Amino acid sequence: MVVSSVPGFDAIIALGSNIGDKACHIADAVQAFTADGWVRLVKRSANYRTAPWGHTDQDWFVNACMSVKTELAPHELLARCQAVERQLGRERTIKWGPRVIDLDILVYRDLALNDPDLVLPHPHITARAFVLVPLADVAPDLVIKGRSVRAWLTELPHDDVVALTPGP
Ligand code: ATP
Ligand code: CA
Ligand code: CA
Repeated sequence: MVVSSVPGFDAIIALGSNIGDKACHIADAVQAFTADGWVRLVKRSANYRTAPWGHTDQDWFVNACMSVKTELAPHELLARCQAVERQLGRERTIKWGPRVIDLDILVYRDLALNDPDLVLPHPHITARAFVLVPLADVAPDLVIKGRSVRAWLTELPHDDVVALTPGP
């Protein structure tokens, strides 16, 4: 998978929550993720109310996205994702099940990686409206698998992804 080099950010993180005060968990995660100088927030999407994916018999999600500048290496950034998940009380249950918070690295610069614990770009971006819609807020021209985020969105139904907060 090839991602074009886009100046202005080093990585983009997707966030999701479907337990408790979902928007609050997203806000706390953005804050915790960017609390020190190692990761600086560049742009944050609106929050979106989205239908559950995978197991559809669970509560709706709030999803969002943020672009960041960082000198952390990809695995260090993954470790930070997991540290913030733990900090906010995420418990590992069933795959794609309910979660207080989920942080995924969508892209890291123009890196393509296929490690057992880290795949970049994130493999499901172009199939998930709940990822593509917030991603279009922060990087509409980002090219994934040969097409821009904006172009992928024209092909994927996204009526069930509804903005909860004003866009950036
Ligand atoms: P999905 O990855 O399909 O969105 P999920 O987010 O529910 O599913 P998790 O249980 O949160 O999956 O994570 C499972 C594993 O995915 C993590 O332990 C992590 O090592 C791995 N992983 C691989 N690529 C990435 C990535 N780009 N960002 C975050 N985690 C990743
Ligand atoms: Ca995920
Ligand atoms: Ca995850």
